[in-house]
Amino acid sequence: MRIKKSHNRYLVIILLLLFLSSLFCGQAQAYYPDIGNSTAKYAIIALSDVGIIKGHKDGTFKPNNPITRAEFAVILAGILNLPDQPEKAKHFRDVHSWARGAVGALVNANIVAGKEATFFGADDYLTREDMAVFFVRALGYQQQAESLNLNLPLKDVRYISNYAVRHVAFAYNIGLINGYTNGHFGPRDLSKREQVAHLAYQVYKKRADYTNAANNLIKNHQPVKIFIDPGHGGSDAGAVSPINKIKEKDIALEISLIAAEILEREYAGVVVRLSRTTDVYPTLSERVAMANNWSADYFVSIHHNAGGGTGFESYRYGNNQQTVDLQRQIHTHIATHLQNSYGLRDRGMKTANFYVLRYTSMPAILLELLFLDHAYDASLLQQKSFRQYLAHLVAEAIAKAHGLEKKQYY
Ligand SMILES: [Zn+2]
Repeated sequence: MRIKKSHNRYLVIILLLLFLSSLFCGQAQAYYPDIGNSTAKYAIIALSDVGIIKGHKDGTFKPNNPITRAEFAVILAGILNLPDQPEKAKHFRDVHSWARGAVGALVNANIVAGKEATFFGADDYLTREDMAVFFVRALGYQQQAESLNLNLPLKDVRYISNYAVRHVAFAYNIGLINGYTNGHFGPRDLSKREQVAHLAYQVYKKRADYTNAANNLIKNHQPVKIFIDPGHGGSDAGAVSPINKIKEKDIALEISLIAAEILEREYAGVVVRLSRTTDVYPTLSERVAMANNWSADYFVSIHHNAGGGTGFESYRYGNNQQTVDLQRQIHTHIATHLQNSYGLRDRGMKTANFYVLRYTSMPAILLELLFLDHAYDASLLQQKSFRQYLAHLVAEAIAKAHGLEKKQYY
């Protein structure tokens, strides 16, 4: 009896499974004849079931075709369950009536914007990098994605547009997107309809998982904030070389800009701000206020010396242990390389009561990179390649002292 009973039970289960699978396959057939080989087959069916995705009029889905921005907008608004807001898209002359409600809803939620004031680009195909940007905004992490500087171990990361690279990195790090199996992302490749269906379904079904992953990522990857202060500027030229007339304010700015760019591009987990990016003069108290208000973790002021001497020296204020340790690491890195590669003198680690060192609320250092009134030093500083080398040294020294991780590809 017992055996027979359990046989019956198995039979019932098997019949039930057969019935369910026939239902499922039947539905797939009923939907689209051309999604049988699509990796996103189940996502396409599931989203079709709830009316978020639609096929073509001829009954096909065309999973490998690119998707237009308007088609994408309808899907995105659908998975986010945003009510139609056609009036918010009425300024776009190219948005079809079937997409206007969705585009308006996404514009209103700051998830998408037009390509121009009156042009949405409705019929333009969606690139993969734009798809990543829109999904990150849809999840509500636009600002956080931009403020983190995450490693993105994809081989073509340098080809990702500047406006999209941090969104792609964010989406990658929360497990939402992967590159191709060859390790590339293909930022300008067109998003296929099946790719969008797959991602849309992931977000639709597992939004809370991505939110948790994103919150953990943010908690664990707070970037180190480096503030770089190019000395002088504007009406204050700083030292001017009596030998070749180059000005301290100009080379300090150039080296600072390059060092900042290297830090953010080549290292993960660091963000940089500058006290000036052009030939202007913020007052010393303005420079300090910028760094303090930003809650920078470290302050680096870039200067070039004059007054009879040669080589490199660095300054700190006071003897806070962290300030001393950071100065030692940064100073040693720069001094050793300058000495070994150019025979430049190490003038040592010094202390001084400089305003920007004293009133900054974080550890701070001031670098005096060579002497403008020394013939050998000035001839080096006049060479663009040497200035780039100096910028690299400064960036490397800051990165090393803060234990920054080098990005795998950049
Ligand atoms: Zn100076």
